Amino acid sequence: MNIVLLGPPGAGKGTQAKVLSEKLSMPHISTGDILRQNVSRGSDLGKQANEYMEKGELVPDELVTTMVINRLNEPDVQKGFILDGYPRNILQAESLDKALHSKKKDLDLVLYLDATEPVVVQRLSGRRVCGQCGANFHVTNMPPRLDSVCDNCQGALYQRNDDKKETIKKRLKVYLQKTRSLIDYYRNKSNLSCVSADEDAPVVLDKIMNLLKK
Ligand code: AMP
Repeated sequence: MNIVLLGPPGAGKGTQAKVLSEKLSMPHISTGDILRQNVSRGSDLGKQANEYMEKGELVPDELVTTMVINRLNEPDVQKGFILDGYPRNILQAESLDKALHSKKKDLDLVLYLDATEPVVVQRLSGRRVCGQCGANFHVTNMPPRLDSVCDNCQGALYQRNDDKKETIKKRLKVYLQKTRSLIDYYRNKSNLSCVSADEDAPVVLDKIMNLLKK
């Protein structure tokens, strides 16, 4: 099954994708995670992407699309995948369609996680990430047992640069300007399902699992 998760930053795409990936035994492909790994490795791609990511802007399409297509060619995704963070505009959606069609594949489901602005701002501004294992916490919604220390590996927690207030605003603006139109794009293709995503992650997951059973 080939699934895309769509929704504003902070809707919980990464959180849901991680759990779904385990439950459905399908790889989770997060373009944000792959880009951040490239930034921390200091690769050419990371160096080029970082200036856009720091400002909350989209990394140029050619860079991200090449990265995604390379990933989709790997053996572990041939039986299905959960794509999180791509596509982010119509051109990327068309590139994805083309890449899949060339392999006689298609998207089976585009899951739109519909979360409201106050909720996503609260989630993003309180998010803390483990620098060692990448686990996510939240200062109030899911605080670590020890302040700023990861429960899983004792790594130090940090706030992503793009989770600072001004950059959150910019990311939401970019979402409204460039990404939100994908809801209609996929609705017209009849593979869009919408789940309200303001509730806590386990409640949203239940709704997604019910939808997948249909
Ligand atoms: P995310 O972790 O999905 O919120 O992504 C973090 C940042 O990575 C975004 O704000 C963009 O700068 C960049 N990024 C991730 N996915 C894409 C994409 N499909 N197209 C362009 N930029 C992206």
